Amino acid sequence: MKKNDKVSLEEFNTFGVAASTPLFVEVTSSLALQEKLKEDAFKDALILGGGSNVLFVENLSRPVIKISIPGIRIINESEHMAIVSAGAGVVWHDLVMWCIANDLGGIENLSLIPGLVGAAPIQNIGAYGVELSDVFYDAVCINRKTGESRIFSAKDCAFGYRDSAFKNDLKDAYVVTAVRLALTKKNHRLKIDYGNVKETLTQMGVKKPNIGDVAKAVVQIRTRKLPDPKKLGNAGSFFKNPIVAQGESARLLQKYPNMPHYKIDGAFDKIPAGWLIEQAGFKGLKKGKVGMHDKQALVLVNYGTSSGKSLWAHAKLVMEGVEKKFGISLEPEVNLIQ
Ligand SMILES: Cc1cc2nc3c(=O)[nH]c(=O)nc-3n(C[C@H](O)[C@H](O)[C@H](O)COP(=O)(O)OP(=O)(O)OC[C@H]3O[C@@H](n4cnc5c(N)ncnc54)[C@H](O)[C@@H]3O)c2cc1C
Repeated sequence: MKKNDKVSLEEFNTFGVAASTPLFVEVTSSLALQEKLKEDAFKDALILGGGSNVLFVENLSRPVIKISIPGIRIINESEHMAIVSAGAGVVWHDLVMWCIANDLGGIENLSLIPGLVGAAPIQNIGAYGVELSDVFYDAVCINRKTGESRIFSAKDCAFGYRDSAFKNDLKDAYVVTAVRLALTKKNHRLKIDYGNVKETLTQMGVKKPNIGDVAKAVVQIRTRKLPDPKKLGNAGSFFKNPIVAQGESARLLQKYPNMPHYKIDGAFDKIPAGWLIEQAGFKGLKKGKVGMHDKQALVLVNYGTSSGKSLWAHAKLVMEGVEKKFGISLEPEVNLIQ
């Protein structure tokens, strides 16, 4: 465990924002975490994983506990399925690669999502037609107040689109220390109909894809499409795709017949936030060193040494622009830390 006073968080968030914290500690075991949570100084600490889904709007007045709990192992298996447990500090993509190396299927579409395992259930990470909730078995969590361990089932987590109980009723109540996934050992159910996974596999010359091929295709697409946070500060999609009542999308379609929209169920449609942002004139538009990416309108970018405040101010400008043009309120997907 390392402990320092007044630490810059610049290297601990993918926006590269130079915010600071008065107290920083890294924990590498559940026991060490339980000990820290007992200390008054860490009672209201921010729990940090890879920092790829946070925006530090200003310097923090509270401490930070960085979760670095390691370990991946199979804890149970049958002929067809394996339950894999991963420590909250494991890099998510390393877990995906480990599963592929062990021929365990279910998370190959989630390749290259930045961040650590512990944060995956917080927003129910998803990509290319798969969400964490599709393979989630349970999560081991520590109650921040009592220090007690509790197992959370999928039902307890109340997963939704980029959402879970950990962002709502249980916000800041628990720390995830391990996530357990139910993965296939054979007859993997490949999902290749989303985005251009199928086309990419064809371009790769793959006729009968396996889980490793799907992962390679997803990595190829993501590398092509998304700005690399190591080169350009960002946190992926800054906003959620809004879900609107069908009456509302019908109203908008009269005015904007080309508006893309996807049926969620009989009552709601999902509208791509990137399209709304582009139509409102923000795609590729830079204000100083901040702007929405020129290829991915949904990605807020730090083009230099911008502060969290200026990034958030730009995000609010985009929200106002979209609201004014379409009457739709965008909601940040990224966690604002202020
Ligand atoms: C380039 C890029 C592309 C991305 N693409 C996708 C994508 O395709 N799909 C997708 O879903 N997301 C995507 N994201 C967002 C991000 O990768 C995920 O949200 C990821 O799960 C965040 O992990 P993290 O460890 O970095 O979390 P952090 O940013 O460190 O934390 C996020 C939130 O979770 C809380 N938290 C973190 N760890 C724990 C824990 N152990 N227990 C309790 N709370 C915790 C934090 O307090 C914070 O509120 C992308 C981000 C980037 C930069």
